[in-house]
Formats: sequence, structure tokens, C-alpha cells
Amino acid sequence: MVGDVLDIHNRGYSWNITFGRGLQDWELEDYSLFLIALHEIQIRVGEGDCSRWRLARDGIFSVRSYFQSLLGFVESSLPWKMVWQSKLPPRVAFLLWTDMRGQVSTVDNLRRKGFYVTEWCYMCKKDGETINHLFIHCDGVRWLWDSILASQSMNWVLLRRIEDLVWAWKRKFRDKDSKLLWNLIPRCIVWCIWRERNDRYFEDQTKTTEQIRELFYLTLYTWFNAVAKNPVVGLSNFLLFLSCLNFDLSLLRSNIHMFKKYENDYL
Ligand SMILES: [Zn+2]
Repeated sequence: MVGDVLDIHNRGYSWNITFGRGLQDWELEDYSLFLIALHEIQIRVGEGDCSRWRLARDGIFSVRSYFQSLLGFVESSLPWKMVWQSKLPPRVAFLLWTDMRGQVSTVDNLRRKGFYVTEWCYMCKKDGETINHLFIHCDGVRWLWDSILASQSMNWVLLRRIEDLVWAWKRKFRDKDSKLLWNLIPRCIVWCIWRERNDRYFEDQTKTTEQIRELFYLTLYTWFNAVAKNPVVGLSNFLLFLSCLNFDLSLLRSNIHMFKKYENDYL
């Protein structure tokens, strides 16, 4: 117990540490670091001797709190309202939430759990797959973020984490439906990337860049009409609605018949 190695006197306290054997030369540096660590601890003289885990509010150790501290993860900082109060389909909200908590079954997480999987990103076919790589940094998906933001004349700095991106994704709009559409976009991109990644991983099926773009707009169309105050009926009208909001659909328009053809397959 702490009280056994603590000498309390008039001027405060001092540590009285003894070891079972003498220290070797190569252990002196560790010993000095140990003493420094001890002196950084503040002791409340007069209080009962007990141990507290500083990384948990209740002072009780848990693997979860330690793991989160290693990840530099602060749960209270997560924008949970933006996920659970965004009228998303529940499975999408769940994906986004687990994604932000670092719990999606990407390759790095599966390996941490002891599964044997190759470190391979199925989207860019080169880098190791982590959550933030897969959804933000990967060359195989970043073009989708770039194309959306470029069409809105917005330059963006590549953010480090997915939760930072959700926090940063804020814009002012005059009407609620335009705001709704904008807020659905990052969730929709994450959903389409995850779906395409799983098709490649489990089904050995790969969509082209154009098909992924089409999947994105079709999914956005479906989600928007499911929750909008004033739904935009018909795909053509929806694309017109997007054009009015300055979305660049030039890559879609030349392919509009093909786009419609995939509607039944994707949704
Ligand atoms: Zn990648």
C-alpha cells in the first residue's frame, strides 16, 4: 500500500522505497525515471489509502478506458446528435457511429481482434485499411469528397478523423430541405464507400468510378425523399434540384440512361 512506503513529516511527505536487491548499473536510469514519476503524484495526506484509475470518472480501471486513451479518443467529443438525430436509416446511423468510435470491422480492427486478414485496402489496392484511411484518405474514395466539395466551390483540408469531418460539415441554408440534403451527403458517402468495400471484400464485385457516383446520387435521392419536408419526386426532378444548388452533375448527365438502369440494381 502507498502508506507503507510514504514517510509523513512536518514539511509534507517523502517516499521511502526499498528493493529486494541492489540495483544494477543499467537499471539506474529506469530508477531515476521511476522517482520522477513518483514525485509527480500528488498525495492527499490524511485521506484513506486507495487506488484510483485517473482515466475513468469513477476511478475504477477498465480496459475500455485504457484502450480509448491509447487511441487519443474522447467519447464526449463525438457529435452523437449529428448521427442519431439526423433521421438517417438506422443501419446507416449505426455504421457512422461505430465508424467514429473506431469499431467498424476494417482490416486493422479485425487484426486487433486476432483475425488473420491481409493488410489490404480494397478501394485503392495498396495502403493498409484503417477506418480513417478507408473513409477519408484513400485515393480510391477521396475523389468523391473532392467532386462534391469542388462543385460547391469549397476547398477542403484533408481531416485526420471521420468525427472531425462530421463536425466540420456545417453550412447555412435558407430552407430546411437544402440543409437536410447537405447534412445527408457525408453520411451517404460513408455508406456508399462501406457498401462498395464490402462488395469487393466479400463478393469480389467491383463498381467503376461512374457506378459508385451513380450509387451515391441514387442513395441520396432515396434518403432525401424519405425524410424531406417537401420530397422531390422523380429522379430527373431531383437532379434538377441538385443543379439549382450548384452541384456539378456533368459526369452524370451524359450517363443518365445508364444511371436509371442501375436504379433497380442498387436500391
Ligand atoms: Zn485505400
